[in-house]
Formats: sequence, structure tokens, C-alpha cells
Amino acid sequence: MVTVTRLGEREQYACEICGYQYTDRNWAEQCEAWCRANSSCNLEIIAHGAPPAARTDAGDQSVGSV
Ligand SMILES: [Zn+2]
Repeated sequence: MVTVTRLGEREQYACEICGYQYTDRNWAEQCEAWCRANSSCNLEIIAHGAPPAARTDAGDQSVGSV
């Protein structure tokens, strides 16, 4: 499932797997489908989005419970 974040008037959609953020839900869904199937990102898809700002290292999603 694509993660939806509300930004004022707009919504932003994030790929649950790689965390890339999109303003267009279609790209987020395509990204997630690709990431799930290939365990990597499709450069042509992520070109439409923005990298996750909150994370420093790609792949580490277990932050904050130390
Ligand atoms: Zn993705």
C-alpha cells in the first residue's frame, strides 16, 4: 500500500518499500509494484519522485527503538 501524506492542500504518496515520494499516486503505485517485484528501484519511475528526506541511509527502516 502506498503511504499517503497530507501536505496542506495536497497529498503526497510514498512508496512503502523504498520511501520515494510522489505527488502523483500512479507513480507511487508503479514504484511500489516495481520495488516489490525487483527489490530495486526503477530509475525511470523514481525520476518522477523525490528521495525520502528523513532517512540518511537507504534500506534502514528500523530507526528509533534503540
Ligand atoms: Zn519504490
